[in-house]
Amino acid sequence: MGFPGGMDGIARCRSCAAPIWWRKNPSGKAQPMDFDLATMTRTETPHHATCPMAKEWRGRTRHAQPERATELRRLHGLPFDP
Ligand SMILES: [Zn+2]
Repeated sequence: MGFPGGMDGIARCRSCAAPIWWRKNPSGKAQPMDFDLATMTRTETPHHATCPMAKEWRGRTRHAQPERATELRRLHGLPFDP
């Protein structure tokens, strides 16, 4: 909801609400990447590099996870931070 077609798998940064997509590294760890709304393409720019709330990401790397997981944690009343 809220996205036009062709944006399957696109989430929003929970810090700045920018559209992002999650890339899985070979290690299996998900990394947020920028999504270009103008061209509707997944860029190869890590979102950390452009997020205006980048400071929020520091120290949270261990807990960085897809937005869906964050929602689940909220639903179940789990803490976001240790
Ligand atoms: Zn952001």
